[in-house]
Amino acid sequence: MCKPIIIAIDGPAGAGKSTIARSLAGKLGFTYIDTGAMYRAVALWALRAGVDLSNMLGLERLAQEARIEFSGDRVLLNGGDVTAAIREPQVSEAASKVSAVPGVRRAMRDEQRRIGLKNSVVMEGRDIGTVVFPDAQIKIYLDADPGIRAGRRAKETGASVGQVAREIAERDHRDRSRAEAPLTQAPDAEYLDSSGLSPEAVEEAILKIVRQRTSN
Ligand code: C5P
Repeated sequence: MCKPIIIAIDGPAGAGKSTIARSLAGKLGFTYIDTGAMYRAVALWALRAGVDLSNMLGLERLAQEARIEFSGDRVLLNGGDVTAAIREPQVSEAASKVSAVPGVRRAMRDEQRRIGLKNSVVMEGRDIGTVVFPDAQIKIYLDADPGIRAGRRAKETGASVGQVAREIAERDHRDRSRAEAPLTQAPDAEYLDSSGLSPEAVEEAILKIVRQRTSN
């Protein structure tokens, strides 16, 4: 049996990771894994269950017990559809706090590795190429100008660009400065700036890298 191929796509909020990763996975017949959705699901459960975001042990327990599944475009938490709920602004903020807890990261990382051992995946997040799969065959660090990233997210959510810009700046700062698995480019990742590029152009650039790295 062939060893599964891992395509790791990391980068800040609004760089275009989800759009590209989903489409790429569809084209290659790989499984698409949105790891941000997993942290969001844990955060949503914490908010719903009234677990304080400073309660590290409580959050770790939730992360270990959470049954997070991807079913087509839907995200399920303990059997319930949370696809829309995890995109609420308060969940975005809570996810970036919950994801700084080492025990939460451990639980998510173990689950992500389990998935990647069985299937070829396009997995996107913040620490896939650095921590989850440091030996991934293909690593991309997808970036874009902060103003453009805020504009994209504002379009998706309907919120004002200014407000979104402040929210993602805060989140990016937290993601980059945390002690555990901070957002950073892996030394062997290809850097791609999607600012002036269409999703199709970004995808083509990544496919080129995939062809190069898998032909060796
Ligand atoms: O990618 P998305 O914006 O949905 O991720 C939500 C939050 O989850 C991020 O702001 C980040 O704090 C966290 N996250 C993470 N590691 C990942 C994916 C997401 O810490 N691999």
